[in-house]
Order: sequence, then structure tokens, then C-alpha cells
Amino acid sequence: MDCIFCMIANKEIPSKVAYEDDKILCFHDLEPQAPVHVLIIPKKHIASLDEVQEEDKELLGHIMMMVPKIAESLGLENGYRLVNNCGEDGFQTVKHLHFHLLGKRKMIWPPG
Ligand code: 5GP
Ligand code: ZN
Repeated sequence: MDCIFCMIANKEIPSKVAYEDDKILCFHDLEPQAPVHVLIIPKKHIASLDEVQEEDKELLGHIMMMVPKIAESLGLENGYRLVNNCGEDGFQTVKHLHFHLLGKRKMIWPPG
């Protein structure tokens, strides 16, 4: 499949890995929007949060359970922001489910 994040998950495209297990990969964003900016993806191709199926419940739960652990490993003890851009209005540019984990700077609200 012609999916850049599947290629990253399969190590066909190199990335700076922050965490990996059999189900998920966490790697540093190519264009960081904060001093720490990583992406957490399922290795399984899921196009977006809108495409998540009942069978993906455990996988999604696993991602969420790993967020605080990954954040801690990256030194985000002062907090962080977790972002999912979904679809056209959410400005999702890569059509493989991913969560942005950003930290080491004070975020503002509302986002752009
Ligand atoms: P989206 O806009 O879909 O929520 O976020 C996609 C993110 O993927 C962007 O922050 C972009 O910088 C990042 N990105 C796109 N292509 C690559 C790549 O080849 N390698 C890495 N590490 N990040 C990428
Ligand atoms: Zn994919």
C-alpha cells in the first residue's frame, strides 16, 4: 500500500524511533511543532479515527495506555498535548491514524 506511515512502520522509510512494540510505533515528527513532537501510530493501517472498528478497541486502548509512559520517557513531566487530526476539517494530511504528542513548551488554546 502507498502509505508513508505504513512504510515507516515497516522500516522502509527511516524514522527516529522513540518507542516501539509489536502493535505500535512512536517516532519523531519530521517538522516538529514543539521541542518534543512525536507521532504515535498503530502498525496496522487504519486510515483515520473515523475508520476505527470494534475489533480495534484493544489497540486504541493500548495506544492511550502508552501515552503517559512515552511522555514520561521523553521527559514531559510538566504536561503535554495529545492531538488527533481527523479528516478534511481536522487538517489530517497523512491518511494513517496517528496521535501527535507535543511537549516541552507551554501550549495555547484554542488551537489554530
Ligand atoms: P497530520 O497533519 O496528518 O495530522 O500530521 C502528519 C504529520 O506527519 C505532520 O506533522 C508531518 O510533519 C509528519 N510527517 C509527514 N511525513 C513524515 C515523514 O516521512 N516522517 C516523519 N517523521 N514525519 C512525517
Ligand atoms: Zn498506513
